[in-house]
Amino acid sequence: MKFNENFKNIAENYLFAEVADRTKKYASANPDKKIIKLGIGDVTLPLAPAVIKAMHGAVDEMADAKTFKGYGPYEGYSCLREKIQSYYRSFGVEVGVDEIFVSDGAKSDLGNILDIFAKDNTVLVTDPVYPVYVDTNLMAGRKVILADATEENGFLPMPDKKVKADIIYICSPNNPTGAAYTKAQLKEWVDYANGIGAVILYDAAYECFIEDNSLARSVYSVDGAKSCAIEFCSFSKMAGFTGTRCGYTVVPKALGDANKIWYRRQATKFNGASYVVQKGAEAVFSQEGQRQIKANIGFYKENAKLISECMDRLKIKYTGGKNSPYIWLKCPDGMNSWQFFDCLLENAQVVGTPGSGFGRNGEGFFRLTAFGGREETEEALERIEKLFAK
Ligand code: PLP
Repeated sequence: MKFNENFKNIAENYLFAEVADRTKKYASANPDKKIIKLGIGDVTLPLAPAVIKAMHGAVDEMADAKTFKGYGPYEGYSCLREKIQSYYRSFGVEVGVDEIFVSDGAKSDLGNILDIFAKDNTVLVTDPVYPVYVDTNLMAGRKVILADATEENGFLPMPDKKVKADIIYICSPNNPTGAAYTKAQLKEWVDYANGIGAVILYDAAYECFIEDNSLARSVYSVDGAKSCAIEFCSFSKMAGFTGTRCGYTVVPKALGDANKIWYRRQATKFNGASYVVQKGAEAVFSQEGQRQIKANIGFYKENAKLISECMDRLKIKYTGGKNSPYIWLKCPDGMNSWQFFDCLLENAQVVGTPGSGFGRNGEGFFRLTAFGGREETEEALERIEKLFAK
């Protein structure tokens, strides 16, 4: 027996471990200080009442032989897939019900989709990047190349015709930078991908935070995307399903055999998301559910606005905040990412995420999230403002 040697090529994920370690050390040396965490990308508000009600109803169905459900369809229940189709329609995008695959979350699908692609494909990711795209490909032994996302290009790199890639990852609104592509910018990526026969793996996990009409809620709002793009989306940030687990992936029939092979892959390795969870996800699209989840998203957006306004007052440059739950800021006074982390922790007792953990272009930047409580966000900002007001 031999282990997969490719695991040796993956860097240990030091980022969150190191954040936790430094925070713990500080807390034990300073037990009287209250630490506020604006670092992690997890939500804090509970599931919407409409979701809870639907899930309770589904549990009752499972308790009765007449309504009990065993294995469900690999691709998800059609009642949920139809609701997802209508959701796309609500922002002017048409996708087929048979192009939608429900899963236990976007992270699983982002990793699993790689089963359908050959090993010798070259992968292009932006830097800084959500680490899952890089690590899943390194595990499979693929070559990964980087597109620089920098202050100069607003953290939105555009295609370079000289670069040849087969699999291109785009995350918009982006984690960690909060930057989001306009439809016109995405059109350039779609044309580039179609031109060289590449596939775009489009991560739309944060689309529900988009409010500007010029920005794309879906890659399919761009002509030509159906022949080159697979889209991943999630109920995690949209409806607080980080612990409940549900997501969906759109694999267009116009993209060669992708739809057929993905179905074959799922039928072999996946037995569907749980019925109870899918009923909860379906309730997200009810009138009540939409009203409730929009109120929750609005709450996080208000946090994002408060953070952005604080950065504006301090004249600290940042991206994100408006169409994203992330605020990606330039560390003040020339500090690098970890120096700023220590400075915030020691002087304001606020924890964020050092940008350098997301790639070399993240050095000198820092990520704050809008997923905290209101009072703690306000208190954190007060402390930051006191520290950096000139
Ligand atoms: N994609 C991005 C860009 C994310 O930031 C995250 C989670 O933080 C995910 C996907 C994972 O989503 P899920 O909870 O559906 O697995």
